[in-house]
Parts: sequence; structure tokens; C-alpha cells
Amino acid sequence: MRAEALRVQGALALLRHAHAHPGVTRAEAAASLGLSSGSATEIMGRLRAARLLGERPVAATGGRGRPSTELVAHPDGPLVAVVELTHATWRVTTAGIGGELAPAPVHRHRGGPPEAVLAEVRAAVEQARARAGGRLAAVGVALPGTVRGTTAVQAATLRWRDVDLASLGGGLPLTVGNDASLAGVAEALRGAARGVPVALHLTVEVGVGGVLLVEGRPVLGATGAGGEFGHVPFGEPGLACPCGATGCWDVTVDGRAMARRLGRPAPDDPRGFAAEVLAAAAGGDGAARAAVTEAATALGRGVGALLNALDPAIVTLGGLGADLLDAAGDALLAAVRPAAMAWRRAALPPIVPAALGSRGPSIGAAESALGAVLDGLAQDLLTRR
Ligand SMILES: [Zn+2]
Repeated sequence: MRAEALRVQGALALLRHAHAHPGVTRAEAAASLGLSSGSATEIMGRLRAARLLGERPVAATGGRGRPSTELVAHPDGPLVAVVELTHATWRVTTAGIGGELAPAPVHRHRGGPPEAVLAEVRAAVEQARARAGGRLAAVGVALPGTVRGTTAVQAATLRWRDVDLASLGGGLPLTVGNDASLAGVAEALRGAARGVPVALHLTVEVGVGGVLLVEGRPVLGATGAGGEFGHVPFGEPGLACPCGATGCWDVTVDGRAMARRLGRPAPDDPRGFAAEVLAAAAGGDGAARAAVTEAATALGRGVGALLNALDPAIVTLGGLGADLLDAAGDALLAAVRPAAMAWRRAALPPIVPAALGSRGPSIGAAESALGAVLDGLAQDLLTRR
């Protein structure tokens, strides 16, 4: 019995390793996990029979040594549907073991009542499920808003409040996450913060979202609604935020802040407006340049404060945050330093652009849903006699 339990644990370890390291060869995986060649072969036989992993030959590179095989998702293996909602678009795609997203078209929506948008998304999930022929095992959703459980409690750019997304699962396990938090999960597992024990990810789009990641796992609080760094009062005291609080960091780092600085009306599309201002600044427009510098400075001050509070080993910046780092990195870093406690300044952690860009939320949603699938498989395998 004990030997069987060890074999099952070995199978789960190899499965998780192959998922986390796409392209790994069987020999490399066996070495990483301390498995003998014979054990790895036996475990792979089980995982192939369970339709979880397959193998394919690695193209010969020099002709020396034995031919190797790389571990890949089984062609009949489990899939998850991945739903990405933004303020203006939605997309439904799928991913399997290894986390690679299938190509899928992006559709526009007009916002408004959630029922209309969700009906379209639900139909696309059902189509994906039909195409998957029984392989679809979970659904993961990323959206721009505060999430508690499977409910979007506040999604300002979608104008949604207390929208329950449970129906998108269609009875399958459903994970719903904030897009910035999921982008952080993606950075920690497959991006710029991979392998870093404690990482802070911040995405600036309209406002700031993010997450602290410990050993690749998001720290999201008791109800999953944590990580709303944009609603910490690092901003201008008294300035009202759409969230209902005042002084929020959110409204000092994005296109809304740039519009105020330039004496322009509040933009309907703050992200698009920020892109225009960045382009004007790059073209030599002095006022635009000042607005970019001011937003980068506000971003840097808050990052410095969060270094004191959270002590991350790396900070990854996504979206407009990466653009501000690129366009006004000196101003951003110059604002981090005085906000950071003096003893920290000699060795500030790297502050780098996110590596996965706009794919981060979908990759993170896939990881979240696949995590649920792998946990379920572990339960099944460990309780099977
Ligand atoms: Zn706020």
C-alpha cells in the first residue's frame, strides 16, 4: 500500500513538473524529482494510460547521447476554458496541461447590463465544451474588478456591481479572479517573477491592481478580494475615487491623472488617453512629458511604500505601469527611493516590466483553473484503491 501511495505521489509530482516546465524532457524531469530512469518510465506509462501526459521525440541536436523525449499534454487530456473580460472585449479560449492558450478571437461588447455580455460569453464556453468532447474540466475567468468568490462585487469600468458569474461554469469547477491579480500569478509561474520566493505584481490600466505572490501563490485575503493596492490612499488627499473612498492611489497614476494635469476633461477611455499622452511625450510635447513624469512619480512613491510594507524580492509592472517605466523610468525610480525606508535604499529590489504583457490575465486564469483540475486529480489518485 505504501509503495502504491509513493507511486501515486510520484505521478502527481511528474504531472505538476511537466505542467510547470513545458518542453522539459523526461530525463530532465526525472533528475529534478530524484526519480530513477526506471521509475520515470513506469510513472509515464501510468500518466499516459490516464490520458494526462504524452511524450514526443526531441529533435536531435548533436547526435551524442541517447535520444530523448519531451513531456507534453496528452492529446485527449483535460482542458480548461479561459474567459477574459476587459472593459470593452471578451474572449473564450482553452488551455491544457502546460498552460498554453489556444488561439481565439476577441469580441467587442458594449458594456451595459451584465446579462447580455454574460449570455454571449456563456454560449462561447458551451461551444468550447462541445468542441472539447468531454475533456473540459473547469472554467477560469479573469475580469477587471474586485472579486469575492465567484462574484464581481465591483467592476467600475464594466459598470457592474455584485454580478454573480457562477453560471459561466455550467456545473464545472469555476475560478474567478481579478485580472491584475491573475497577471501576477502568471508572472510568478511563467514570467518575470518565476522562481522568486516573494514577488509583487502591479498592473496599471485604469487605476492600479496587483497581488503579492509567495512561492508563486497569490495572497488574496480571506474572501479573495485583496490586492486592491490602487485604493490605498497614496494619492491626493481629498480627491474622490469612483470606489467611494478618497485619496486613492488609483486616480493619480493613469490617464485620468494625466488629463487633470493637462487641464483636459476626464477621458471616457483613460487607457487610450494615456497612450495618446505617452505618444505625444515621446514626440517631444513638453506638457505631455510633464504629465507622464507626474504619473510615473506617483506610481514610484506608492511602489516605495509597498516595498516597506511587503518586502518583495522583485516588483513586476504591467500595462501602463510598464509603459511608464519605459518612458519615465528615471522619474519613477527617483520617487521610489525617498518613499523607501533609508536602510532599503542601498539594495532596492529589481523593478521590471512584466514579461507576459496583455496575455497575463488569461494565462493566470488558465493557471487558476488548471490548479483546481490538478488538485482534483490528486484527490482522485490518492483516494483510489
Ligand atoms: Zn478608490
